[in-house]
Amino acid sequence: MENIRVRIAPSPSGNLHIGTARTALFNYLYAKKTGGEFVLRIEDTDLERSNQEYTQNIFDSLKALGLQWDEGPDVGGKYGPYYQSERFDIYPKYAQILLDKGYAYECFCTPEELEAEKEEAMKNHRAYVYSRKCMNLTEEEKAGLRAKGIKPSIRFKVEHKELIFNDLVKGELKFDTNLIGDFVIMKSNGTPTYNFAVVIDDMLMKISHIIRGEDHISNTPKQILIYEALGAEVPKFGHLGMILAPDRSKLSKRHGATAVSDFVKQGYLTDALINFVALLGWAPSDGVEIKPVDEIAKDFRIHDVSSSNSIFEYDKLNWMNGQYIKKMDISKLTDMALPFLSKYDSAEFGEHGLSKMSRENLEKMIEITREPITTLSELEHDCAYFFGEDVDYTEGMETLQKPDAKVVLNRVMELIDGYDFESDEDVHDKLADLRTEFKEKHNMKPKETMWAVRAAVTGRTRGADMARTMTILGKDVCIHRIKKALEF
Ligand code: GLU
Repeated sequence: MENIRVRIAPSPSGNLHIGTARTALFNYLYAKKTGGEFVLRIEDTDLERSNQEYTQNIFDSLKALGLQWDEGPDVGGKYGPYYQSERFDIYPKYAQILLDKGYAYECFCTPEELEAEKEEAMKNHRAYVYSRKCMNLTEEEKAGLRAKGIKPSIRFKVEHKELIFNDLVKGELKFDTNLIGDFVIMKSNGTPTYNFAVVIDDMLMKISHIIRGEDHISNTPKQILIYEALGAEVPKFGHLGMILAPDRSKLSKRHGATAVSDFVKQGYLTDALINFVALLGWAPSDGVEIKPVDEIAKDFRIHDVSSSNSIFEYDKLNWMNGQYIKKMDISKLTDMALPFLSKYDSAEFGEHGLSKMSRENLEKMIEITREPITTLSELEHDCAYFFGEDVDYTEGMETLQKPDAKVVLNRVMELIDGYDFESDEDVHDKLADLRTEFKEKHNMKPKETMWAVRAAVTGRTRGADMARTMTILGKDVCIHRIKKALEF
């Protein structure tokens, strides 16, 4: 088999978008499946829009998702540099080759002249293609224009033909190159355009397969023509359908997070995110959707990727994230949860703040609160009553104002006063005895008895396992809260 080399070539003009993460993943999977190389190239030639913070965000997000590249800016490789901005001296050489071979020509048209051509086309309801006004300028004419201080751009001369290629995802695609028009490959300021730089880089980096979003399909014929003109081998192309929002419009911030780092900030686990993203256009052969990337890689075939658009179902992501939360190693999950609990580290929580809680209790708290949540950000609310001496009784007030509640709470006070919380089981048994006693003596339903205890100790009507909640809080805090609750 040929040497398979794939790449992801993000432009650092924003944080890593979830769609780019999907493109990165499919390239990564293809490389893993075929024993190929996965290359990262940063396309930062648009110096105004690119910045180092976004580049760092791209590195961090890809790494967090487990998409480690084999060659790229920080790890190096044989075909660097991997920042396009460090490759500016490479492109003029190849533009010159195209000029020399007659595949390109200098264009001295000013922006105003080009604008006038475009307006003319619009007026006549024609699709605009460049007029080729500069294609046959003589050397004298060019020298004259240069003398006037006009710097030329370089245009690629598009051969008129039907261009056909076999897309790995979409199948056979045909283009009429008449509609393309001679396009600029080098701007008059000496910098390459995207379509030119991308071909030169992919060619020199020996990229064999280009897997990217279908928003690039219209660029592909131009790129193929450049490869052909340079006599280079044309890579195989595979264009992935777009990722749309549930309302079928372009996925945007108004639908929810779109950058990987924003999903992480909202409490999504990167393992869940990457698993979810794999299912946008691909389905496992055994129908088991939840599986790690290594396993997905074994099953992945680019030909199985769907050519249609995928819908980004936030609800499904939430469900999947919940599944990952339930199964994640508790120590790892606790580490991930801590940033979402930072509110409880402030001075107002004093002795009962986050940093005062033992690691054992932290893990226990996460263990008993993780079941119903779908994102880690829900922990701030769900764990609130584990911090501070007092709690907010808004939710539990109605329960506490029932006459039965007072009887239960007085009895709980008796039961736990003078008794040390020895173990979870012990407290659990005590609560079971309490329920039995109230059922027998007062004909109270067991859950009603527990509502009173829960409302007093946590201020809530629902929450984590009561016995373990009480042992985490400790006897003093429980007594303090029950006394307070008895005042209502
Ligand atoms: N820098 C381009 C982008 O981010 C790369 C496109 C390509 O993969 O060719 O869209």
